[in-house]
Amino acid sequence: MKNLKITLLLVGLFLFPIIGLANDVIKDDPEQNISETEFQTRRLEMVEKQIRKRGIRDRVILDSFRKVPRHRFVPEDLKYLAYNDHPLPIGEAQTISQPYIVAFMTEALNLSRSDKILEIGTGSGYQAAILGELCDSVFTIEIIASLGNRAKLLLEELDYQNIKVKVGDGYLGWEAYAPFDAIIVTCAPTRVPSNLKNQLKEGGRMIIPVGSSYSQNLVLLRKANNQLLEEKILPVLFVPMVDPSGKKY
Ligand code: SAH
Repeated sequence: MKNLKITLLLVGLFLFPIIGLANDVIKDDPEQNISETEFQTRRLEMVEKQIRKRGIRDRVILDSFRKVPRHRFVPEDLKYLAYNDHPLPIGEAQTISQPYIVAFMTEALNLSRSDKILEIGTGSGYQAAILGELCDSVFTIEIIASLGNRAKLLLEELDYQNIKVKVGDGYLGWEAYAPFDAIIVTCAPTRVPSNLKNQLKEGGRMIIPVGSSYSQNLVLLRKANNQLLEEKILPVLFVPMVDPSGKKY
C-alpha cells in the first residue's frame, strides 16, 4: 500500500511538467467551454477513482471533495485539467496539490467537526475550502500577497464564512488564534518550526512535509502530555517554505 502511494505521488510529480508542456500545445482546447454539470461529473469521478479507490473511505471527507468546485481554484486556462490526477500550476511558481495528496493529508489529521485548524501555505485556497467543509474554523496563511488575496476573494465568493485568510509568514504561526486542534503545512521547511509546535493544542495533530528541496518526508506529529510524537509517513515533494525575502527555511 505504501509503495502504491509513493508510486502515485511520483507519477503525479513527473506528470506535472509533461502536462505543463502539453498545455502549451493545446491552448485552444475546445474543452474550455465545459458546463458545470460536466465539471460535477468529472469531480465525482475524481473522488471515486483517485481518492476512494485508493483507500480513503471516510464518508464526510469524500463528500467534501464531491462538493468543493476544484475547477474554481485553478487558472482559467487550466480548468479543463482541474480534475486530473496531478498537481497544477497556480501562478507565482506555486502549485495546487494533486487531489489525492490533499485527501491523504486531510485524513491523516483525524479531524472533528468542532476543530479549529491552522493551514500554512494557502496557495489556491482549495485545501482550506476542504477543511472549511469539515471543521469549525480554518485560519490560513499565505506569504505571496497576490495568491493570498486571490484565495481570500474566491473563498468569500464561495461563502466560506469560517475561513480566515492572512497574507504573512506562516513560519510564525498565528498566535492570536492559537492553540489549534490541527495544523497542516503545505510547503516544506527543513525542520518543524517551533512556533507551530507551540501553537498546537494538547491532543492536537500536525501534518507537515519536512526536508530539502529534493527530498522530503510527510511527518505526522501528535501532542500528548505536552510531548510531541513524530511519525514519518511517506516521501513527498512540496514547494519550499520560504521567509519574506524568499530564502528557504
Ligand atoms: N494548500 C495549497 C497548496 C499550496 S502550495 C492549495 O490547496 O492550493 C504552497 C504554498 O505555500 C505556496 O503558495 C507558497 O507561496 C506558500 N508558502 C511558502 N512559504 C510560506 C510561508 N513561510 N508562509 C506562508 N506560506 C508560504
